[in-house]
Amino acid sequence: MSFDTLGLAPALLKAVADAGYGEPTDVQSRAIPAALEGRDLLVSSSTGSGKTAAFVLPALQGVLAARQQAGEAAPRRRTAGPRVVVLAPTRELAIQVSKACMTYGRHIPGLRVATVVGGVPYGAQLKALRGPLDVLIATPGRLLDHLGSGAAVLSQVQVLVLDEADRMLDMGFIDDIHAIAEALPAERQTLMFSATFAGHVGGLAARLTRDPQRIEV
Ligand code: AMP
Repeated sequence: MSFDTLGLAPALLKAVADAGYGEPTDVQSRAIPAALEGRDLLVSSSTGSGKTAAFVLPALQGVLAARQQAGEAAPRRRTAGPRVVVLAPTRELAIQVSKACMTYGRHIPGLRVATVVGGVPYGAQLKALRGPLDVLIATPGRLLDHLGSGAAVLSQVQVLVLDEADRMLDMGFIDDIHAIAEALPAERQTLMFSATFAGHVGGLAARLTRDPQRIEV
């Protein structure tokens, strides 16, 4: 299996080659084609399986497609908010995801990625949210703060990713996640990653996704 067969855009394949990856991992070879078809996904896979690229690559392809549709070579001066939102349980994981976005998006001209996490001052985050933005990576509590103040606008979101959904629920983020989902367009793609989809995570998945494909690796 090669990355070339997954349906990814040349700019993304180039970034993957730059990263030195020979072949997609199991979760990547199963999740990427399904995500590119527009399916909602419920994916169980562990850290170290390559799950970050499994959602970042198709999400970035969505950014490329949206730009093409809008006839934009580079982002407009002002945008109506990000096209991709990734929710992660911790600051560390959010930063890891944003680094992955920069790595896999390095050949996308002017890609704007913002990271919004708790425990740090609001100033820089407000500035990032005001500028043009393609991808927003956030911990749920802080994103909800920015939504409440009107700083974050999520009306253009096409893809929602929940990374480590089970951990987010363990940390008590369930109400925040529901409130954030309420602010998103109903017409969107939702990609959920979790060690388990039993119990509360299953309930959350049922509410946030439509006809999801289940992928277990
Ligand atoms: P993750 O499970 O997303 O935390 O990724 C674990 C590590 O695997 C990261 O350091 C990635 O850079 C690396 N990685 C992801 N996909 C591949 C691949 N297809 N081939 C080799 N390494 C990869």
